[in-house]
Amino acid sequence: MNKQDQPLIFELSNPGRIGYSLPDLDVPEVNIDDVIPSDYLRVEEPELPEVSELDIMRHYTALSKRNHGVDSGFYPLGSCTMKYNPKINENVARYNGFAHIHPLQDESTVQGALELMYDLQEHLKEITGMDEVTLQPAAGAHGEWTGLMMIRAYHEANYDTARTKVIVPDSAHGTNPASATVAGFETITVKSGEDGLVDLEDLRRVVGPDTAALMLTNPNTLGLFEENILEMTEIIHSAGGKVYYDGANLNAVLSKARPGDMGFDVVHLNLHKTFTGPHGGGGPGSGPVGVKADLIPFLPKPVLVKTEEGYHFEYNRPQSIGRVKPYYGNFGINVRAYTYIRSMGPDGLKAVTENAVINANYMMRRLAPYFDLPYDKHCKHEFVLSGRRQKKLGVRTLDIAKRLLDFGYHPPTIYFPLNVEECMMIEPTETESKETLDAFIEAMIQIAKETEENPEIVQEAPHTTIVSRLDETLAARKPVLRFQKQ
Ligand SMILES: *Cc1c(COP(=O)(O)O)cnc(C)c1O
Repeated sequence: MNKQDQPLIFELSNPGRIGYSLPDLDVPEVNIDDVIPSDYLRVEEPELPEVSELDIMRHYTALSKRNHGVDSGFYPLGSCTMKYNPKINENVARYNGFAHIHPLQDESTVQGALELMYDLQEHLKEITGMDEVTLQPAAGAHGEWTGLMMIRAYHEANYDTARTKVIVPDSAHGTNPASATVAGFETITVKSGEDGLVDLEDLRRVVGPDTAALMLTNPNTLGLFEENILEMTEIIHSAGGKVYYDGANLNAVLSKARPGDMGFDVVHLNLHKTFTGPHGGGGPGSGPVGVKADLIPFLPKPVLVKTEEGYHFEYNRPQSIGRVKPYYGNFGINVRAYTYIRSMGPDGLKAVTENAVINANYMMRRLAPYFDLPYDKHCKHEFVLSGRRQKKLGVRTLDIAKRLLDFGYHPPTIYFPLNVEECMMIEPTETESKETLDAFIEAMIQIAKETEENPEIVQEAPHTTIVSRLDETLAARKPVLRFQKQ
């Protein structure tokens, strides 16, 4: 049977067939109308499939195979760090003492969980070079907003209310200007130069007494390390602004460079990227934020503190921006990140970065003869190619991405960053073997050849997936998430 013909659960439905067996009722039977008010009772029976347990097992297993994840194949989605999530993380997150506690439990009964959170904060402080860390934010974008709200509170506490602008490079992730806007700032764009780095002249031009902060990713979204970083943070500081580090690319600098040492005042980390929380399905993330000393009073509350008697949450923080999330952050993801950090150790984390950078450079050099390489220099953990050459032959970057699906790969990030035409942003990560990298490279080379010799095969791809090309706008605006009987 080919994949497409796998019957779906509603098609298998056979009236009267059941997939469960329950023991005989051992309590008096009641009439449902006597216990539930009629307003709450359904009028019509729902149309549910009637199938056996085996049918339903096969249904969900078949659906799971239609998906692509790191555990099923290579996933070089640039900026997203789709690396392997070690399974020991899952084991630890499932420990009773972590999985079955409640956030409203008395602190004295969850000291182990609090210790883990405290230690994780300590490790993140050391890794980033910051003075204090909060685990509350639920994701990177949430961390950005939290950090900007703290910067806002800091300026306000200094009666410095004219600082209404946040500077963001043109290569920035879309969440940066979005977070700045939601935090009540106006976004100013600073240009990148020919070399892909922030143009210092342009930065000097846009900075001023109205600058609240500069938001920066380093290495930036082109995979390039901002060589003038100390000069840049100095330019902002001497104008009275703060510097925000978007830590989504931390995989490129672990144990090598620290945002705190580069002059940054605030940093968020994406634990679900660099520190192996499973992600990609929109599940829970974790975006801790680290700050330098002068921003500590503004941290979200409660703040976890360690005393002689143990760990406890401190609520009396008059300058705090308040809570940014119910309870204390996505604890389960934090357990996974903690497990990862402890099992890797400092040398392991250093090796992560070294291998991530070597893998990216190897792939970039091998693909350079076949695709345009807009920035021909060493990259960090990811690199960008341009599909300009292929576009002239009628094959767009979108077509290349679709064709990769036929080879069983998740495509790279495409059309981002915005400042590179027909952009493909590739992040192989450190957890992939040379054999996997080579196989992907061969697929890309084959696609480049097909583009010259037989472009239709690329233009009409994918050929092997359950559905071929979707109307992407319609799929995003009006997704069909339920089975629909024909
Ligand atoms: C992923 C990413 C973000 C946003 O992080 P989320 O955890 O997805 O909210 C911000 N900036 C960059 C550069 C990213 O890659």
